[in-house]
Amino acid sequence: MKNIALLGATGSIGTNTVDVVMAYPELFKIVSLTFHSNSEKGAELIERLKPRYVGVGSEKIKAELTDRFPDIEFGVGAEGLVGAAIYEAVDVVLTAITGSVGLLPTMAAIEVGKDIALANKETLVMAGKWVMEAAEKNNVNILPVDSEHSAIFQCLEGQKVDNLKELVITASGGSFRDLTRDELKTVTLEQALNHPNWSMGKKITIDSSTMMNKGLEVIEAHWLFGTDYDKIKVVLHKESIVHSMIALKDGAYLAQMGPSDMREPIQYALTYPDRLPIKNELAFDLTQIGQLNFEPMDFNRFPMLDLAFTVGKKGGAYPTVYNAANEIAATSFIDGKISYLQIEQFVQRAVDHYQETTEVTLSEVIEIDKQTRTIVERWIKEEGRL
Ligand code: NDP
Ligand code: MG
Repeated sequence: MKNIALLGATGSIGTNTVDVVMAYPELFKIVSLTFHSNSEKGAELIERLKPRYVGVGSEKIKAELTDRFPDIEFGVGAEGLVGAAIYEAVDVVLTAITGSVGLLPTMAAIEVGKDIALANKETLVMAGKWVMEAAEKNNVNILPVDSEHSAIFQCLEGQKVDNLKELVITASGGSFRDLTRDELKTVTLEQALNHPNWSMGKKITIDSSTMMNKGLEVIEAHWLFGTDYDKIKVVLHKESIVHSMIALKDGAYLAQMGPSDMREPIQYALTYPDRLPIKNELAFDLTQIGQLNFEPMDFNRFPMLDLAFTVGKKGGAYPTVYNAANEIAATSFIDGKISYLQIEQFVQRAVDHYQETTEVTLSEVIEIDKQTRTIVERWIKEEGRL
């Protein structure tokens, strides 16, 4: 029996994880979980999963739920996230919350020796160096849930590090892949949220369309696999059938394929190195799919992908700034405060504005994350929607 802490149980990855867990109740148990604001769904999950510890977003939700579930221990805010992550019985923490709030509970869990099934890519983008160092020191596995990284992880199994030539990350192109930059000026939130292949949370769906998501994934791959940026390539693959590939020295390519179903990488992160059938498997017939297409990425069309390589190579807190500015800008677009193209403008401006002079520590990175949010929030307030 594997005991799981599920951070972000009410979200898209959270829901898929609950499906995986419920399909094998004899193998998996969610002993602690967190959610932020969706108390209706949160309460439903508590009824179904009967966790022992629950982290919630506010004192008000805690008070309501304590009356209903007097036997459960509740925690609020950051304390609730950490409480769920380090809960004693937990073997593996599945980080399915959005944004850099994922860092603190992930680090806390690593420090007490819990394995991490990592969906929350923002954590690695912001603090990959420290997360990976702590994982090594505490002998903790970081198992990728992101489909591209799970694909690469699967392809790398049994390979000597020396054999690797490069990682090839595939990108679906997101909701606006067929629009020109000029056409992007007038797009709406509703159009942006209409992803061609994947059903996901709002923020990551916006990030897919701006190619921020792929940018974050490039930096995530750099830290997860210890691969230089010069050896990470991105190709446009509109079908989202090949989830990613590795190229080996001798010219061989290994690719991992499958339907667009997040249950597969989630389940593999929980069963690794074993595999189990997926219950209610989605249809997958290559003869129906017929053909797979790969195109080069246009860095002028998707400047946020180009910027990911720039901030990644600069290192230090540059990726933190890139991520923090995007978290504020993407959320502001979702809230109707800025237009679509302003997302990129604010991210670019935050990166240009930041001047790193010395090597940074983890606590400085956390401070820079906060400062960047404050600055971008101020810009948005002052300048508003263009
Ligand atoms: P969702 O928006 O669907 O869910 C986010 C979850 O985090 C919800 O449970 C939400 O709670 C909780 N949450 C939101 N804000 C906070 C906060 N400030 N503090 C604590 N908890 C919070 O996101 P996704 O499931 O789509 O994505 C989660 C992570 O996984 C992201 O990092 C994303 O990049 C990554 N990922 C997602 C994929 C997908 O298919 N969706 C694929 C690969 C990676 P509530 O709803 O109760 O407010
Ligand atoms: Mg992905």
